Amino acid sequence: MRIILLGPPGAGKGTQAANIVSAFHIPHISTGDIFRKNLKEGTPLGLKAKEYMDQGLLVPDDLVLEIVKDRLSEDDCKQGFMLDGFPRTEAQAEALDENLKTMGASLDTVLNIEVDHELLIERITGRRICKKCGATYHVKFNSPKEEGKCDLCGGELYQRADDQEETVKKRLDVYTQQTQPLIKYYEEKGILKTINGQQDIDKVFEDIKVVLQGER
Ligand SMILES: [Zn+2]
Repeated sequence: MRIILLGPPGAGKGTQAANIVSAFHIPHISTGDIFRKNLKEGTPLGLKAKEYMDQGLLVPDDLVLEIVKDRLSEDDCKQGFMLDGFPRTEAQAEALDENLKTMGASLDTVLNIEVDHELLIERITGRRICKKCGATYHVKFNSPKEEGKCDLCGGELYQRADDQEETVKKRLDVYTQQTQPLIKYYEEKGILKTINGQQDIDKVFEDIKVVLQGER
């Protein structure tokens, strides 16, 4: 089972990725994680990527692809994998398809977790974190007993700069702009499955299971 997981920030992708890994026993391949691993181990690919990152530049497509390809050729990916954070652009998607073809493989499903932007903004901007212990809250969905104070340690709660409304809106706009062509690309290939991410977390996973079990 070779799948891609797509979803905007705040759509609960992390939770669903963990659910999929434990139910379907496929490795979760996050480009962020492989980058960190390559950097930590100082591999040739990691060093090359570091040159760009040190200059504050985006790692170019062909290098990202090289790193992903390297990871996909490992033994644990023989039975399948779940890609997360890659591809981000249509060009990367085409390159990935080409690459899989040389391995005699192809993608089975692209899961697209969809959530209305208004709801995402509400979910993200309402997040609060404890300065002392890192516990997380939400002003509406998981509020502390006393406003601005951590239930566990009494620490002060704050909002991450990334979670402020203007920043969130910008992130969502960038995501939409980048992902729309990608979604269309997979739709045309007939492997895009849209999941309603506005439901309860458990129900979202139920829907994902139905889709993936159909692929088995
Ligand atoms: Zn705390």
